[in-house]
Amino acid sequence: MSTPFTPPAPVYLPVAQTPTLFPVHRVYCIGRNYLAHAREMGSVVDRQRPFFFMKPADALQPSGEVPYPPATHNLHYEVEMVVALKQGGHNISCEQALDCIYAYAVGLDLTRRDLQSAAKQDGLPWDAAKGFDYSAPLSELHRIEDIGPPDARTLSLTVNGETRQQGQTDAMIHNVASIIHELSLLWLLQPGDVIFTGTPAGVGVLQVGDQFRAELAGIAVLEGRILPSIQAN
Ligand code: MN
Repeated sequence: MSTPFTPPAPVYLPVAQTPTLFPVHRVYCIGRNYLAHAREMGSVVDRQRPFFFMKPADALQPSGEVPYPPATHNLHYEVEMVVALKQGGHNISCEQALDCIYAYAVGLDLTRRDLQSAAKQDGLPWDAAKGFDYSAPLSELHRIEDIGPPDARTLSLTVNGETRQQGQTDAMIHNVASIIHELSLLWLLQPGDVIFTGTPAGVGVLQVGDQFRAELAGIAVLEGRILPSIQAN
């Protein structure tokens, strides 16, 4: 086979306690999944109609090192519990959904909040606000077989040692099973899909030089920092 250029490398995520790498298919995200966060954004929650957006697979950044993105003056963190699927399908029931999960992780749904606000105001899509390069720093994956089925957990974020976000995963409006079910009504889920499950209240600004630490208690930790913009030179 000849190709006009070298194909992009597949995206792999490290799996804790094993040499295994997890090959990524897609990255799905749910919006407004914690009432307190929806309220702080001035948004109304329609509990019957969850909504989703995507990030490119290569937006995932397992090192946690994030260059400050171009075209924003308001980069925001959103700490989120993340699930990785080993099996997919269409029309997955809530009862079957948890069997699809391979692993849990913690990550940041980084957001160009200024672009998102403008997009909301004008009724435009969120891609540039949410799906930019390096917009999804993510911890190692922790397999269900190692951690057991996770019950309610504390999800937290510190920036430069100060707590900025703290929430309980059982406060999610749509739980993990329901998110997988709803996604499977809209897309054919596949092994390798990664799902960001929404952020609790307390979102805020990240600046160049900030060090962050995201934690899904007892399961996963992500440490990282914001580097100078690649576009600066
Ligand atoms: Mn989010």
